[in-house]
Amino acid sequence: MLSLETVDYQHIYRRKIKQSQEGFHWTTKYGFQYGLPTAAIVPSTPKPDLSPTYDVIIIGAGFAGLTAARDLSFRGKKTLLIEARDRIGGRCWTVPTGPDTQVEMGGTWVHWQQPHVFSELQQYGMDEFEETVAGGEDCEVVFFDVDGQGGRSVIPFPFNLEASVKQNAEYLDVDKLSIEDRVAQLDGLTQEEKAMLKAHLASFYGVPLEKTSFMEVLRVHALCNFDPGMMEPATMKYKLAEGTTAFALAILEEYKGDRIFGSPVSSIKQSDGEFPVSVTLKNGDRYSSEAVISTVPINVISSIVFDPPLSALRQEAFSSGVTPARTDKLLVYTPTKLNNGLNIACEGDMPYASSFTDGIHGNHTLLTLLAHPDISLDRSDENIRLVETLRPAGVTVDSAYGHLWSDDPYAGGVMPVRGPGFLEKYHEEIRKPHGRVYFCGSDFADGWRGFISGAFEDAYRVTREVLKAC
Ligand SMILES: Cc1cc2nc3c(=O)[nH]c(=O)nc-3n(C[C@H](O)[C@H](O)[C@H](O)COP(=O)(O)OP(=O)(O)OC[C@H]3O[C@@H](n4cnc5c(N)ncnc54)[C@H](O)[C@@H]3O)c2cc1C
Repeated sequence: MLSLETVDYQHIYRRKIKQSQEGFHWTTKYGFQYGLPTAAIVPSTPKPDLSPTYDVIIIGAGFAGLTAARDLSFRGKKTLLIEARDRIGGRCWTVPTGPDTQVEMGGTWVHWQQPHVFSELQQYGMDEFEETVAGGEDCEVVFFDVDGQGGRSVIPFPFNLEASVKQNAEYLDVDKLSIEDRVAQLDGLTQEEKAMLKAHLASFYGVPLEKTSFMEVLRVHALCNFDPGMMEPATMKYKLAEGTTAFALAILEEYKGDRIFGSPVSSIKQSDGEFPVSVTLKNGDRYSSEAVISTVPINVISSIVFDPPLSALRQEAFSSGVTPARTDKLLVYTPTKLNNGLNIACEGDMPYASSFTDGIHGNHTLLTLLAHPDISLDRSDENIRLVETLRPAGVTVDSAYGHLWSDDPYAGGVMPVRGPGFLEKYHEEIRKPHGRVYFCGSDFADGWRGFISGAFEDAYRVTREVLKAC
């Protein structure tokens, strides 16, 4: 438990916010404390009220699972939502840091260019934002101009792979290029310009450029209406004023079914009968249903035993087809006054992929740092103090909040980054149901894949499929 003497947490306790086992807090005075307060902790349905059978079981209470559960329960389906963590929100959760301040431990930025999340936000009256004025550099226009039309002919319909391929047969060929391959094609750039471009592109996903399909970046460019100047505002400028946890709670509030938290699913078995899919939890409890929606992130699906097993191709897609972006997140409060929107230089052997000032909280500037997993950020004061060696010089750290997504057993990193050729080889396979088990989530979306908006987009697709089947 956090001690009241360490930080001004009285306001949190007054609001009776519970403590998650996840994340850590570091202060100059008290060092590391593990676990963080969040409103994302909500009670499970009392066990005697649970039923052995349901129409649909949904695994995972991130935005995809919450949305599918809400929409299926709206349509009268008897549903059970099962979540491994002690909280809702999955790869998004908000931690209060003072009476009027908070930090986002995972997914943060949204934009009206991302239609599915924006429409959901408006539905709940939550479309008020705080600005991060992070001044990302624009990507070189020539990088995207693979077709002499700024990439426009390659991805005519960014939310519909099938329609795009129908319109443009070369779509799948372009996906075979890695980012490394694409940079090598740019004859007009000097070696130095290429090196700078590669360093910039590497900060997008934090995985080797030869393992990232060029299409992963071109797709985001297409979603930004082929305007390189939109990429930064559309992806890292607007934070939810009320926080992602408030957003997730608003969706949960409308959900009408049962729910179990703090219980990882360990196996999914399919047989015949009225309720052919049975889901077993780590504690041995078992529930059966007509269909199951798994929103478990691709990086960690292999922790679940499937009977019958997943096809060899699907298993290959989930393992060698993708590279997990193993990025950790650190939020640092410094008393050093810095302008909002300042990029902090992360050069050489620094463990940080990117960092920038992310708002002023009282007398403190908030810095957001995305870190490679190679150092144990949560193990020594020196690791946190590394922030003080970044430029501009003179930044001191008073306190920090972190979530090591790379070590997270229910996320396995920020997202799975697709390698060259993924679309042709695996895309269809991973999106089709495995018997009565449907795979869903931001990792599976066509459009804003890897973003919060993608979780909604894919939940709508899979909810539709399940309603058709049952
Ligand atoms: C550090 C970080 C920064 C990001 N920044 C942004 C951003 O700024 N903007 C943006 O749009 N997106 C961002 N994202 C991505 C965004 O957060 C995700 O794409 C989105 O939240 C995924 O939602 P989801 O519901 O598909 O998956 P998740 O949120 O991962 O939900 C899946 C759920 O399944 C649960 N689960 C896993 N295994 C099991 C099991 N065995 N049994 C039961 N439950 C299980 C998990 O605990 C989780 O709650 C970021 C992500 C991270 C980690």
